Amino acid sequence: MKQSIRKRLSIIIIFCSVVGVTLSVLVVNITINNTFNKYMQDIQSKRNIRLVEYFQQIYKRDGTWNSNSGEEMMHEALMSNYCLSLLDQKGKVVWQMNPNDIRYKSHMMMMNSNNNEGVYTTSKFALNVDGRIVGYILVGQYSPVLLSKEDVNFKVEINKSIALSGLLTIVIVAAISIILSKQFSEPIKAVSKTSVNLSKGDYESRLKINSNIQEIKNLIVSINSLGEKLNSQDLLRKRLISDISHEIRTPLNILQNNLEAMIDGIVPVTPEKLNSLNEEVIRFGKLLNNLNTLKQVESEEMILNMGLVNIEELIFSVISDFSIAATEKNIELLFEKEENSDFNVIGDYDKLKQVFINLISNAIKFTKFNGIVRVKISSSNNYVSISIQDNGIGIKKEDLPFIFERMYRGDKSRQAIEGSGIGLTIAKKILTLHSGTIDVESKENKGTTFLVHLNKDEEK
Ligand code: ADP
Repeated sequence: MKQSIRKRLSIIIIFCSVVGVTLSVLVVNITINNTFNKYMQDIQSKRNIRLVEYFQQIYKRDGTWNSNSGEEMMHEALMSNYCLSLLDQKGKVVWQMNPNDIRYKSHMMMMNSNNNEGVYTTSKFALNVDGRIVGYILVGQYSPVLLSKEDVNFKVEINKSIALSGLLTIVIVAAISIILSKQFSEPIKAVSKTSVNLSKGDYESRLKINSNIQEIKNLIVSINSLGEKLNSQDLLRKRLISDISHEIRTPLNILQNNLEAMIDGIVPVTPEKLNSLNEEVIRFGKLLNNLNTLKQVESEEMILNMGLVNIEELIFSVISDFSIAATEKNIELLFEKEENSDFNVIGDYDKLKQVFINLISNAIKFTKFNGIVRVKISSSNNYVSISIQDNGIGIKKEDLPFIFERMYRGDKSRQAIEGSGIGLTIAKKILTLHSGTIDVESKENKGTTFLVHLNKDEEK
């Protein structure tokens, strides 16, 4: 059976309160009845003592029993529902009342008071005058405790008010439970609505409510961050597809146009031409490789193989790899380092190498013939700093904030220079994973400096 959380909570609270109130009403009721009965029994035994004293006084006054002795008590007995008999010292009846006279009245009482068994019982009390027994009185009644109409009314009224207060408590608890359960049910309802929206693909859906219940608060925060993540993943996916298709279209168009021209005989099929088309295909391959690395960093799939990395050795090896490319452009590729410094950091050697390959290759790529690329490393107590400085074409001020973004390649004019706009994105991601930073300073037509900081010898 499906039930809303609010209904279920209210039912539980009301059920508990009904059980609790019923139990306490019962306990209070029983306690009051017992105390009341004890009180009445006290009164009854005082009455018996009074009766005994009364009849002893009568005997003292008259010195004997006759059929009128203490007869006036009969009236009181009749009024108070008990039956009196006077016996002399030999146990012979002097006078006695008929139990039937009180039976009917007692029966009425019993119906009201409910707790009288209705069995006629008598108690015998000896009458002592001057140390000897002069007679007996028998007090008989139809219930262990005699209750007057007022007594019964009193008890009924008390029970009524207990029941009423119980009922009132249940009503109040029910009202409170409806309000309280709303506190739980409303946010949970909203959370469930938002998660249904998210599951249907509405990634913009967010929870705007707040709750002071810790667990619900956590739930709201995590649903919202889930929405945030789904949304950004969705945007990423869409942008990636459009960026990739755009990037692929360019080399593909070049290939297609040239091949068509060759087929149509407009362009001669020469080894040089084929070579240049092959370069396009190679560019294609590089782009796909870069995309694969980008996919890894962006989906946070990248696993870092942490170890002790000597940045000096790493940079040296990258510079060696680029020496031919630099020489081809007659670029001076300089390496400077602070003497007697320690350049060890904890990191992933291959990934960090990728960062400097991207930065140094950019520096060479965007520097004209006869330029200078200067790589400097220095070290302080806490980190190793690496700067890659060139005197190349520089970056426009308006492009600077975006160069670390995916596929951002600056204005159209630079797109003639080979690239995919992915290298800096990858570099930044890898450095972020190493708790490192990367900054850039650049002036158009003057040159660019990238500055990298890596934390030293510290577990990331
Ligand atoms: P790619 O180099 O493949 O185009 P990157 O992400 O490495 O992609 O760089 C993004 C853009 O930043 C480049 O297209 C270029 O416009 C600019 N850029 C990066 N490094 C330099 C540099 N050293 N000098 C001038 N411009 C640069």
